[in-house]
Amino acid sequence: MTADVHCRLCQTPLTETLVDLGMTPLANSYLPIETHEQEEPFYPLHARVCSSCYLVQLPAVQTSAHIFSDYAYFSSYSTSWLAHAKAYTEKMTQNLNLTKDSFVVEVASNDGYLLQYFTENSIPV
Ligand SMILES: [Zn+2]
Repeated sequence: MTADVHCRLCQTPLTETLVDLGMTPLANSYLPIETHEQEEPFYPLHARVCSSCYLVQLPAVQTSAHIFSDYAYFSSYSTSWLAHAKAYTEKMTQNLNLTKDSFVVEVASNDGYLLQYFTENSIPV
């Protein structure tokens, strides 16, 4: 474990491993044809959990601009998935009695396809 990696929320040194999947290429990132003879970049997929605040996180090894500048999958591309997301948010709003005083968090929220429906109903996200 690397002692010089710190929690991005509370700055505690990250010493606990949740799962270490080794080296992996970026997900949903296709290589341009002009780079087909070059070695594909691999990055550590080592999820750590903060021993102080329990936030699970990956150390940033690439910028979001690099990861999403030519990203292959956006949830909002699928109209049937959007319909499902809208129905889900309506059901959760009713079942959990969500109001403008609630706060909804979605982990790995892609392009915001789900949270937009909470926002439309004035539920903070
Ligand atoms: Zn922390």
